Amino acid sequence: MIEVRDVNKNYKGRKALKNISFDVGKGEVLGIIGPNGAGKTTLISLLATINKPESGKIHIFGEDILKNPEKVRANLGYVPQETALYPMLTAYENLDFWGGIYGVDNKLKKEKIDRTLQLLRLEDRKNDKVKTFSGGMKKRLNIAASLLHDPELLIMDEPTAGVDILSRATIAELVLELKKSGRTILITSHHIDELEHLCDRILVLREGDLLYSGSVEEILRSTGNDDLEQLMLKLEEV
Ligand code: ATP
Repeated sequence: MIEVRDVNKNYKGRKALKNISFDVGKGEVLGIIGPNGAGKTTLISLLATINKPESGKIHIFGEDILKNPEKVRANLGYVPQETALYPMLTAYENLDFWGGIYGVDNKLKKEKIDRTLQLLRLEDRKNDKVKTFSGGMKKRLNIAASLLHDPELLIMDEPTAGVDILSRATIAELVLELKKSGRTILITSHHIDELEHLCDRILVLREGDLLYSGSVEEILRSTGNDDLEQLMLKLEEV
């Protein structure tokens, strides 16, 4: 599903990603963790075709994302850290707008909007203006927007940062639901305990280096830690 080879990304000569290589299989849930400034958002923005690497290759669905970004985007949902919503519009109207951006067929749009509102447990707020929503509800609505075109691959950057417990639980349920239906999901989070339960595999980044890649058990065994929280604390100390 995703093939990343020797990817480098610099910002004004400063290395944000150094020779990163990894694969992601169809139906996998991959967590990306690491201390602040590790390169998580940079990596995700490259995969979401928002940003370009200086060197290296990225293939998604077998397509070179630099040569065929449109083909990749058509089947990819991206949830950035910042929510992108119109506060004066209702939840439904926001999704109607995003459905247009994603090219969702007009005939199917209403049904798809209702389905994604249901998935994110927002159906009873669909006619309320977004300015009345909590942070967690806005985040859930943003995730709903990214799912309107039924993408095979969902990429979420810190979806649970600063959100309430109900929203966190709803997002975790959504990830498991999408996984069940064969979708592939990439997720960064500072809620490490959450990722431990949701992810098939984890990438650990620090200062642009890919330090570890594997299942939680594999990473803990090879690093001699009891849990990922302990590993993260050690990485932050260095
Ligand atoms: P956090 O957990 O704080 O969100 P992160 O792991 O997502 O961090 P990135 O945001 O990818 O890390 O940043 C990686 C490095 O690249 C950092 O040193 C950061 O300062 C730098 N960086 C990121 N975006 C830019 C930019 N647009 N211009 C210059 N430097 C940048």
